[in-house]
Amino acid sequence: MSTIFSKIINREIPADIVYETDNILAFKDINPQAPVHILIIPKIEIPKVTDIKGKEHAELLGEMFDAANHLAKEMGIAEDGFRLVFNCGNNGGQEVYHLHMHLLGGRQMKWPPG
Ligand code: AMP
Repeated sequence: MSTIFSKIINREIPADIVYETDNILAFKDINPQAPVHILIIPKIEIPKVTDIKGKEHAELLGEMFDAANHLAKEMGIAEDGFRLVFNCGNNGGQEVYHLHMHLLGGRQMKWPPG
């Protein structure tokens, strides 16, 4: 089922897009939890982590991690460090069922997460 992220991919609703390839899109989170908070998403609809097929999606996931590293450098948070998060399902706190990687940085992160 399509989500709000499909509408962002299709330019039906606006977003602050910071990176795009044929396969992935990255844009600023509308409700940032850190000075840098970017969502990196595949353009194809994969609802959640448990829908990932390792072999089928390996290249796509690699591209998402490359984008995270590229953006971390561009945003100046690569050296100090950052956090990458995939929330999965209800207990994981997932709200939007279109796979997305949170790139969070620019402040000290805490552990354990809330
Ligand atoms: P999650 O809880 O992992 O599903 O994260 C969904 C994230 O999407 C949240 O951090 C929201 O703030 C963010 N979000 C929801 N709608 C939008 C939107 N239209 N543009 C940018 N970020 C959004």
